Amino acid sequence: MGPIQPQYDCVVLGGGPAGSTAATIVAQAGHSVLLVDRDSMPRPHVGESLMPESYWVFKRLGLLDALAQTNFPRKVGVQFVNDTGRESQPFFFRTHDPRPSSETWHVDRAEFDHLLFKNAAAHGADCHEAVRVTDVVMERNRAVGVLLSDSSGERHRVAARVVVDATGQQTLLASKLGIRRPNPHLKKAALWRHYRGGDRDESGGGVKTLILHSSGKRSWFWYIPQSDNLVSVGCVGDSDYLLKGRASPEQTFAEELAQCEGVRKRLAQATPADKLQVDREFSYSTNQPAGEGWVLVGDAWGFVDPVYSSGVYFALKSAELAADCVAEGLARDDTSAAQLGKWGPGFSQGVASIRKLVDAFYSKEFRVGQFIRDHPEHQGRLTDLLIGRIFQPEASPIFEDLDRWLAKQKSDKRTAKSNNQRNRQDAKKEGGN
Ligand SMILES: Cc1cc2nc3c(=O)[nH]c(=O)nc-3n(C[C@H](O)[C@H](O)[C@H](O)COP(=O)(O)OP(=O)(O)OC[C@H]3O[C@@H](n4cnc5c(N)ncnc54)[C@H](O)[C@@H]3O)c2cc1C
Repeated sequence: MGPIQPQYDCVVLGGGPAGSTAATIVAQAGHSVLLVDRDSMPRPHVGESLMPESYWVFKRLGLLDALAQTNFPRKVGVQFVNDTGRESQPFFFRTHDPRPSSETWHVDRAEFDHLLFKNAAAHGADCHEAVRVTDVVMERNRAVGVLLSDSSGERHRVAARVVVDATGQQTLLASKLGIRRPNPHLKKAALWRHYRGGDRDESGGGVKTLILHSSGKRSWFWYIPQSDNLVSVGCVGDSDYLLKGRASPEQTFAEELAQCEGVRKRLAQATPADKLQVDREFSYSTNQPAGEGWVLVGDAWGFVDPVYSSGVYFALKSAELAADCVAEGLARDDTSAAQLGKWGPGFSQGVASIRKLVDAFYSKEFRVGQFIRDHPEHQGRLTDLLIGRIFQPEASPIFEDLDRWLAKQKSDKRTAKSNNQRNRQDAKKEGGN
């Protein structure tokens, strides 16, 4: 890899899935691209369960064969376990749609992200690790370049016709411009670690991502079997509930685990393989996807919630869509906000369906298995959503029925509560007579 040049058509900030995808596609179109990441690759990262619909981006990036040769376990479905311990029928992707694109992987993010980063270099992007972006240079409201600091402390000023921000939760540009909006309804925290020797159910021909509520529904767990006999186990709940006034994250994790029989029994023979990690308040959006000479992709654009494992797919897809607008804009010498952000509205509309499903998941009444038992006609559409098919017209009115169903669960609960109260009062009265 040669030295960093003083000028590129496009500079991409951050070499996660979004940055590497954007860099590959813009370079493929024949433009000069610099991709930098502050870390040295490979570097670990949370977010190991993919959505099958990522397949099409992998295909475009030419990565399907390389991914098939890894030892990442194949993810064949998703299963929910409710707060009473009852397991839903698994949502097996290929039972619903037998094409290879209906399956994906549970990945080791260090290896996965490195693969994508190297792929960007193989497609002609100038890729540099251990190079931190310290600022984006603006002239009035136009991004015109970046300031970088490399591992030897050397500083670089690099001019760019387009700056792609893919810095993930760091949201470098959105934070600088004051357009990052935390989601006040999803102030969540997550505690997670890996275990060795946890239960692996491969009855569907591969592994499943499990989503398990703990009793009382104040937290939920992800259970993601990995290669090398590892399992990624994470606990998510309101940030205040998990992190305020409790002994320590380790103790909290143990207490929540004690409330989640489904995970506890799967970890009965397992031992922790690394240190517990903590993250908080990771859900936010940004006011606009692009401006003059700049565009946001992946988590730098926004992050919904970890529950449906949509983050990496959104990173790949937003980067693909944005990169096409960047390449086209560079070719036409139009790097306006309108050109670079053309993909935004359609993408946001797709993401909104996952956001609705997330809101439903966090309502006290939601039980996936029960909803599908009451509405079997939505099994297919729900499986499509879990696959990541969010950019196609609504095949069935799932959200209307879901809203109605949630409202009914709520009113049934209220009625049951007031009946119980009345019965107790009647019993008291009778006792007094
Ligand atoms: C608790 C939790 C669980 C999750 N689980 C899942 C899951 O199971 N499945 C899933 O699909 N998603 C999951 N996600 C989301 C997923 O991790 C992200 O959506 C995904 O990594 C986004 O990719 P990205 O490329 O946008 O950002 P990142 O992968 O975060 O990459 C950003 C890169 O930018 C670099 N960077 C940052 N600042 C600078 C700087 N100043 N200079 C240079 N480089 C910089 C970083 O080093 C990093 O490599 C989860 C998220 C959380 C919080």
